Amino acid sequence: SRRKLVVGNWKMHGSHKANAELLEGVLAARPFGADVAVCVPFPFLSETAVTLAAGDIRWGAQDCSAHEQGAYTGEVSAAMLREFGCRYVIVGHSERRAYHAESDQLVADKAKIALAHGVTPIVCVGETLAQREAGETAAVVKRQLSAVIHTLGHCVAEMVVAYEPVWAIGTGKTASPEQAQEVHALLRAQLQAATPRAGEMRLLYGGSVKPDNAAQLFAQPDIDGGLIGGAALKAADFAAICRAA
Ligand code: 13P
Repeated sequence: SRRKLVVGNWKMHGSHKANAELLEGVLAARPFGADVAVCVPFPFLSETAVTLAAGDIRWGAQDCSAHEQGAYTGEVSAAMLREFGCRYVIVGHSERRAYHAESDQLVADKAKIALAHGVTPIVCVGETLAQREAGETAAVVKRQLSAVIHTLGHCVAEMVVAYEPVWAIGTGKTASPEQAQEVHALLRAQLQAATPRAGEMRLLYGGSVKPDNAAQLFAQPDIDGGLIGGAALKAADFAAICRAA
C-alpha cells in the first residue's frame, strides 16, 4: 500500500524568524506516520536545508524553470534545487497557471526537467468553479494530466500528482471526501492507462485541508495525502494534519 505524503506549500509567506519557529514546532511534533515535506520560497531553501538536514522531514521548492540553464533572468533551475537538497518541487500550481499564464505543456516540461535532476515534481491539476459548474471537471483535469503523461513517457510513475480544485484553494470550501475521491479515481485510471506502476503513485488532495477535515479526506481509497496551504503555516495545524495521514 502507498505511504501517505503531506506537503506544506508555504506560498509567498515566511521570514527568518517565522520559519525557524514553524520548523521547530513541526520538528518537535514528530514522529509522523506519513512522509512529510515543506515547499518554501527560494530564498529560504538554504536555511530550511540546514534546519531539516538531520531529520526525516523533506523540503522542496514551489516552481522551477523549464530550461536547463542560461539567460533566463529571475528563473531558478532544477539543478540548483537539487544542489540545495530539494526532494520535491511543485509545478503547475493553479496560482502559477493563472497569474503567470503557465500552459499545460510548460508545466509538463518543468516536471520533466525536475525529474532529470532527481527532484520529484508535484504536478498540480484542478478545475475552476466555472469549469465545475459547466460539468467540465473531468475533461479539464484529464487534459492537464495528459500533457504531463505524454512528456514524461516511461518516467511518469516517478511524479506525484496533486488535485487542487481552484474553488477550494484558500476559500475554506473543501471538496467533500466524495468529490475529491471521484476525481482522484479518474486521475488514477488515466495513469493506469499510461504506466503499470500507477498503483504505487501518490495522488495528493489540496484545497482548504485543515486538522478537522484531513482524516476523512485521507481515508479515501485514492487520496494518498495532501498539499497544504494556509494550515501549513501553523506548526500545530500542520502537525495535526500530518498525524491524520
Ligand atoms: P489552502 O490549503 O490554503 O487552501 O491552499 C491549498 C494550496 O493551494 C496548496 O498548494
